[in-house]
Amino acid sequence: MIVHKFGGASIKDAESIRNLESIVRSRIEPNAVLVLSAMGKTTNMLETVTSLAYAENNKWAEKLNEVTQYHTEVCKLLFGIGKHSPEDEVKTLFSELSKKINRTIKLSYNKFYDAVVSTGELASTLIVERYLSHCGIKVTSLKATEIIITDNTYREGKINWEETTDRISTTIKEDNGIYITQGFIAGTTDGEVTTLGREGSDFSAAVIGNILKSKEVRIWKDVDGLYSADPKLFNDAVLLPRVSYRECVELGYYGARVIHPRTILPLRRYAIPLYIQSFKTPDNPGTLICSHNTEPVKIPCLILKNKQCLMTLTPKDLGFMAEEYVEIIIAEIKAVGVRINLLQSSAVNLTVCFDFDEYRFKPMIRRLEKTFELRYNNGLSLLTISNYTPQCINEHMENKNILLTQQSRKIIRFVYQ
Ligand code: ASP
Ligand code: MG
Repeated sequence: MIVHKFGGASIKDAESIRNLESIVRSRIEPNAVLVLSAMGKTTNMLETVTSLAYAENNKWAEKLNEVTQYHTEVCKLLFGIGKHSPEDEVKTLFSELSKKINRTIKLSYNKFYDAVVSTGELASTLIVERYLSHCGIKVTSLKATEIIITDNTYREGKINWEETTDRISTTIKEDNGIYITQGFIAGTTDGEVTTLGREGSDFSAAVIGNILKSKEVRIWKDVDGLYSADPKLFNDAVLLPRVSYRECVELGYYGARVIHPRTILPLRRYAIPLYIQSFKTPDNPGTLICSHNTEPVKIPCLILKNKQCLMTLTPKDLGFMAEEYVEIIIAEIKAVGVRINLLQSSAVNLTVCFDFDEYRFKPMIRRLEKTFELRYNNGLSLLTISNYTPQCINEHMENKNILLTQQSRKIIRFVYQ
């Protein structure tokens, strides 16, 4: 069996969904699992709905209306007004969400977030499943909330492997044609919706691939594969035809956004090859990520993360920045769900760099300011260059106001304004 993941860009409008149908028809074997993201930028839009609603700003309804219209428009273009159109079901899905928002606004933010944002994947799979069936491709649809089981860490569910293995192996059968399910979303054993973290659909595909011990996992994207840098940001980016699991994890860890960093581990366990391929140019070979890669990547790879916050912490009692303090800081930051991108210590300071998230930032400050004096800068960028060369550093860092540099033999990182 092969697991195929289709990202948001591959189903962003009616034309893209028609293209997906032609890929499924001509390139996908009869035994496969399709894992889908939400259409286009739906997740971002639903994130806006979430924050507006949580702030009790009535504009959320308008924004949700926009999301509904986007989806019903695609239904109209794909199905016309025929009886096969899932348009009414899509409308119901979003109006149910609207009722749910009114009812559950007082949940914890993360739980509320998952309840709202997960609707994007439910809508996209509904539309695509119907369209494939409409075109004569038999597909069985599965609810990810019932087959991918996590604990109740909302917005970052941790997989319950035993339960998930059980559910997937009893539901997905080898000779039953094509299955379709949602990426990114999952459920607890109590039936609550969780999500796996932004861009989590890749990870969903890897979890399913691992449990089915699939022959390969294929991620269909709007780019040809893994590049040495984001081709949209850097014009010297080149495609990497073959990358080891390890290097892929490293690039992902530093923030390369091609695949979700957690994707690799479940695949590496059974040496399942991961292909990244473009749905726009499906004849191109793309990137193969696997274990038997002997040649390490030698060219400089650049990873840029924006919206960074750099925070320096000093113990109020002016003690040294000893292990006890470091331990406290890391525990407090972890407790609010912030992930540290870079960390540097000196005699009396610890400096951390992390993605700025408005909802996690305030609780984090409250926890830390009890013991530490805090200074921070927002709106920064973090550039990581692996296999760096002096020329590459000059090219990219010239005229930048650098606040922090961290360097090892292979990797150099800059936080700058
Ligand atoms: N739709 C989710 C997101 O945009 C998950 C994914 O696409 O992987 O983050
Ligand atoms: Mg996506």
